[in-house]
Amino acid sequence: MRPDSALVHTPAPGVYLSTRGFESIVYGLAAALAALGSDDLQQLRTPPVIARDIIEKVGYHRSFPHLLGRVYAKTDTGLPAESDVVLLPAGCYCVYPLFAGVRLAVATELSIEATCFRQEAGAEVGRLRSFRMREFVRLDTAEHCLSWRDDRLSAAREWLAGLGLETESTVANDPFFGAGNRMMRALQRERELKIELLAEVGPGQVQAIGSGNYHTDQFGRLFAIAGPDGEVAHTACLAFGYERLALALLHRHGADPHRWPERIRKDLGLEATH
Ligand code: AMP
Ligand code: ZN
Repeated sequence: MRPDSALVHTPAPGVYLSTRGFESIVYGLAAALAALGSDDLQQLRTPPVIARDIIEKVGYHRSFPHLLGRVYAKTDTGLPAESDVVLLPAGCYCVYPLFAGVRLAVATELSIEATCFRQEAGAEVGRLRSFRMREFVRLDTAEHCLSWRDDRLSAAREWLAGLGLETESTVANDPFFGAGNRMMRALQRERELKIELLAEVGPGQVQAIGSGNYHTDQFGRLFAIAGPDGEVAHTACLAFGYERLALALLHRHGADPHRWPERIRKDLGLEATH
């Protein structure tokens, strides 16, 4: 019998149904993550799609053409054609357009929960095509964005350690600046723009359960956002994948959350053991 805390396979690789037990863990994680941010933080929730214009403006279709999920729908002519939306690949792309043309009086931070799609090539444990993430997004000056990301990453590592998840922090590359360009990728790695928190999500399966990204002024420039210093705004984001976090916990503490350490159950608001 499948444990009540598992993901359930479907005929589509990397696409799962989740059980009630799994969702209780996700729910607990979502609440705990929301509490990591300050109380007055604006919290948004995305739909699973985003305007195709935005994704093309940020160049996602060039950087990650293999991951982008496109939507085809019937048009007036009666024939299916590509629609004006695509499947959302990450939460923070919904945030920058909100500030297009804005001059920020103060540094701005908000949090967004997203349903994402990426056409992943593999479907090993923890690599889903449809998954959820919580992101914290900061629009600020260059200096503050970088220190914000690093402070929040260390706070996140501490929170994860409290849940029994020891993470390894590693510099990664994520082609914000063009997938095809090896030099730019190397530069991104050298400048440590993307840092991932790695943990085991299954036997021998290590994956990023969170990541911190500093985008320099790339999005500020694209969306004409001015920061509190009057210069082009810099941005940073911190992202956590719900399913990967839940899988990492199940791998670490066992398939039956009733048997997890009481403190962790309490931190995640899982109901009292009977
Ligand atoms: P990224 O934008 O690639 O840094 O992803 C942000 C976070 O989303 C990662 O740290 C993971 O926790 C999660 N994530 C990314 N890709 C996947 C995936 N294919 N399946 C499940 N979770 C993912
Ligand atoms: Zn992001």
